[in-house]
Amino acid sequence: MKRTRTRSIMVVLLTLAYFAGLIYHIVNLSLHSSEWVSMPQNAHIADSEGLADAGMIYDRNGIVLAQSLNGTRIYNASEAVRRACLHVVGDDSTNISTAVQTIYRSELSGYNFIFGLGQPDFIRTSNNITLTIDAGLQTTALSALGDRKGAVIVYNYKTGEILCMTSTPTYDPQNVPEDIETNDDYEGAYLNRVLSGVYPPGSTFKLVTSAAALEYIPDAENIEYNCTGSDEIGTKEFNCFSVSGLVTMREALAQSCNCYFGFLALRLGGEQMTAQAQKMGFNNCYTIDGAQTAKSIYNVSEANDNELAWSGVGQYTVLSTPINMAIISAAVANGGIPVMPYFIKEIKGATGTLKSGSTSLGSIMMPPDIAQKLYDYMDYTVETNYGKNYFCSSLDICAKTGTAEIDEGIAHAWVTGFSKDEDCPLAFAVVVEHGNSGYGVAIPVATAVLDAAAAASTLHPYSRFRSAP
Ligand SMILES: [Zn+2]
Repeated sequence: MKRTRTRSIMVVLLTLAYFAGLIYHIVNLSLHSSEWVSMPQNAHIADSEGLADAGMIYDRNGIVLAQSLNGTRIYNASEAVRRACLHVVGDDSTNISTAVQTIYRSELSGYNFIFGLGQPDFIRTSNNITLTIDAGLQTTALSALGDRKGAVIVYNYKTGEILCMTSTPTYDPQNVPEDIETNDDYEGAYLNRVLSGVYPPGSTFKLVTSAAALEYIPDAENIEYNCTGSDEIGTKEFNCFSVSGLVTMREALAQSCNCYFGFLALRLGGEQMTAQAQKMGFNNCYTIDGAQTAKSIYNVSEANDNELAWSGVGQYTVLSTPINMAIISAAVANGGIPVMPYFIKEIKGATGTLKSGSTSLGSIMMPPDIAQKLYDYMDYTVETNYGKNYFCSSLDICAKTGTAEIDEGIAHAWVTGFSKDEDCPLAFAVVVEHGNSGYGVAIPVATAVLDAAAAASTLHPYSRFRSAP
C-alpha cells in the first residue's frame, strides 16, 4: 500500500513537472519567437530573402522609403533619400543593428506565431511601418553635413516624434558599395551616430555643470569669477578660448568660459557632479523603439583636481551620444522632464495595429526652477553670442555650442538646443566630427534643418500630432 502511494506521488510530481516545462516553453516561444526569427544566425531571414515579401516603410508624410516587389527589396527612387534614411530604415542585411529593417524584420516579413514563416502568401500577414521621420528633412541634413562625418537629431519635445535622424558616413542601400568593408570613407558606416556615436561633449556639457551648481550650491547663479583667459587649477594650467572678464553663471555660459565651469566642477566635487550627470542620462543607455543607444559616460572616480575641472567643461573622459544631448535640451524646454523621443509612428497589417507611437515622459532631470534658469541662459547665449538671426530665420532658438577637443586631430563641433515656438516645438543636437567650431560649423547644419522643419510645419502642422503628456 505504502509503495503504491509513493509511486502515485511520483507520477503526479512528474506530470506536474512535465506541464510546468511545457507552459514555460510555450510562454517563452510566444514572448520571444519574433526576436529569434530575425537573429543573424537565422540566415534565410537575416539576408535579403528575409525581406522578399516584407511590408512597406513610409515616412511621416506617406513617402515610400522601402517596399518589396517580385521578391526584391526596392528603396525610394531618389538616391539622396535612400542615403539620408539608411540608418533609420536599414538595408537588406542586418548590419545596422538599430535600423527598422533589423529590429522589426519579423514584423515586416510577416512572421506569425502559429505558422512561423511557412504560411501561404494569401494568408501572410506582413506589416507596414510608418516612421515619424520626414524624408525631406533627412536629405536636408545629409546635404548640410556634406562629406563630413556626423549626426543630426531633431525631435518634437512635446510629442517625442523624431523628425530627423541623419548619420554620416552613409551609403546607398540599393547599391551597397563593394568596398564597404575596406574603404576608409565607409568606416563606421553601419553606425547610426545619433544613437550609437559617443563624443566628448565639450562646452555643451556646461549645461550639466550649471544644473549641478544650481541644484547643490546656494545662490550659485551669482558666483563671480574674473576670467583672464587662463588660470591654474590643481597645479596645472586651465585655458579659456577668450578673456571673459568678471562673469556670473549666465555670462560665463554665454561666453563659454572654461575656467568658470572648471572651478564650479571642483567646488561641487566628483560625487555631486556624478549625481547630476546621471540624472541627465550619463552612465545609462536609452532604449528607443527597441534600439538601444550607446552609453554616455561621466566617470571621475580616478580624476585629480585638474581632471575634475576639465570634466566640468565636457572634456577629460566625458562622452555623450547626440541623442542624449537632444534629450537634455528637451528637458530644459519641458520644465525639467524630457518627453522621450521615438521614431515608429505605427506598425500595421491585415491583423490590425501591432504598435503605435505615443508620448512618454523620461525621468526628471532637474526641478522646474532650474530648467527655467537654463532656458533663460540658453536664450541669452543665442541672443548675445550667436545672434538669433545667424541661427535661424524662422524659429526663436535657445542653444549651447561646443568645440570638443580630442587627443588627436581637429576638435568635434557640437550644438544642442530647442525652439521656443509653441507650434514648432523642436529639440535638437548636431555633431560634426573634426568640424572645429560649434559656432562656425555645427550651427549652420542645425539651422538648415530647423528652417526646413519650420517650413514643413506650415504644410503639416506638428501641433496636429501633439498629445498631452
Ligand atoms: Zn574664461
